Amino acid sequence: MKKWGLQKIGRVSELVRGFLGSNNGKSQQEDVAIKPTAPIVIPRSEHAITRANISPNALKVLYRLKDAGYQACLVGGGVRDLLLGREPKDFDIATDAHPEEIRQLFRNCRLIGRRFRLAHVVYGREVIEVATFRGRQADGEEDESEHALSDEGRILRDNVYGTLEEDALRRDFTVNALYYDIADFSVRDFAGGMADLKAGLLRMIGDPEARYREDPVRMLRAVRFAAKLGFRLEETTAAPIPDLADLLLDISSARIYEEVLKMFMAGEAVATYELLRQYGLFAQLFPETEAALTLEVNGYPQTLISRALENTDRRIDENKPVTPAFLFAALLWPPVQQRWQATAQEMGDLPALQSAGGWIVGEQAGHTAIPKRFSMPMREIWSLQPRFEQISGRRPLRLVSHPRFRAAYDFLLLRGDAGEVDKKICDWWTTFQAESPEAREAILTTANERKPRKKRRRRKRSPTSGGTETGGNGG
Ligand code: ATP
Ligand code: MG
Repeated sequence: MKKWGLQKIGRVSELVRGFLGSNNGKSQQEDVAIKPTAPIVIPRSEHAITRANISPNALKVLYRLKDAGYQACLVGGGVRDLLLGREPKDFDIATDAHPEEIRQLFRNCRLIGRRFRLAHVVYGREVIEVATFRGRQADGEEDESEHALSDEGRILRDNVYGTLEEDALRRDFTVNALYYDIADFSVRDFAGGMADLKAGLLRMIGDPEARYREDPVRMLRAVRFAAKLGFRLEETTAAPIPDLADLLLDISSARIYEEVLKMFMAGEAVATYELLRQYGLFAQLFPETEAALTLEVNGYPQTLISRALENTDRRIDENKPVTPAFLFAALLWPPVQQRWQATAQEMGDLPALQSAGGWIVGEQAGHTAIPKRFSMPMREIWSLQPRFEQISGRRPLRLVSHPRFRAAYDFLLLRGDAGEVDKKICDWWTTFQAESPEAREAILTTANERKPRKKRRRRKRSPTSGGTETGGNGG
């Protein structure tokens, strides 16, 4: 797929204005709740979506649905991002064909979801999601409950198919409710999305408070899209968020985990984090970290989080891999670090650190699930930290060959950057790990010769440095 590069907002309004034609831009409906009226149809000649920019597989699906007599539209992020000149993450399709009918059209199709079934049409690694238009009852979260509405007003059941227009109005933000119709290549706008796209505004469709109560995850999506697109949250869309933020506690920790990854691993982690804190959402996701952040000394631990997220954004920009293990290691380190420091005297260095790690994993489980395959390496990254302080003897050789060395070393540098660890130690490791095995031997030999032990006191090591040499595997 083509790389568009992530251009930022500045250009957006020009781009969209271009698509709309100068008179069609409508005055900015700033900060007024949207009252959907007749759809605006933007013909092929007046918008910039071309089939050349749509995944061939998505086109195949659209055409086959159309040829079978169904309505078929590209929708959601695919349309929004193409209009903004960005590369869509994926292509979602909406249709009036029912799931069983979709399945009959595609051999490579499986139906997923129990309550509201979606079709996945699979082409190798690309999955095109095809959803039947949903009616008014619809909602983003799958939930098995029999009740239509929870006490908080959250929608718990929907199985109602609807029209294209109904489908549009149950979507979250106006810019996410634009449809590219394969029948005539027009863009259909039922909610004022084009005008908002042009104004760089993220606006909830309908009554924002009610929509957040239906599905509190929309608060996280609001922040995520605002950061990703460089859009401003429209005022009535933003206003209810701080008061409703604690509704996130009702959401399964598995779904929150997925959202956290989307928020922090899409290249705009810094901006997202700032908005999350501004709207009181971060405290719901990472309460212990939020508490630790209030105990700030010389900018620490705020700097640690900021640096970690800056690094993540940079790595994504450079197409380097990022792992949730490292991300969570950083996001949860401030409370771990504080507890570790507070208990190290009494418990010993490594046991205190490992116990702090166990404690936070337990605390965090109620907020974001962290799969074992990431929480284990996360804890190893932490447990290896004290071993970087031990640069005598042959210990550095053992540490450098530890399977988790690289991540732990990166984490050490992060702590160094944030002022938590002596820069000299970071520099020592930076040199040491870059050398050949022979040169490392030489470094250690010289260092050990330079500092001959005056007295052999090995037996009397302090309890804090005692215990496991194997460190990282703990707990
Ligand atoms: P991206 O894929 O780039 O993150 P997207 O807008 O495509 O952004 P998805 O999560 O893929 O987001 O969802 C596709 C579309 O489904 C959205 O654009 C929106 O119209 C609708 N949608 C998704 N989640 C919700 C929700 N919780 N409430 C209402 N509508 C939703
Ligand atoms: Mg999408």
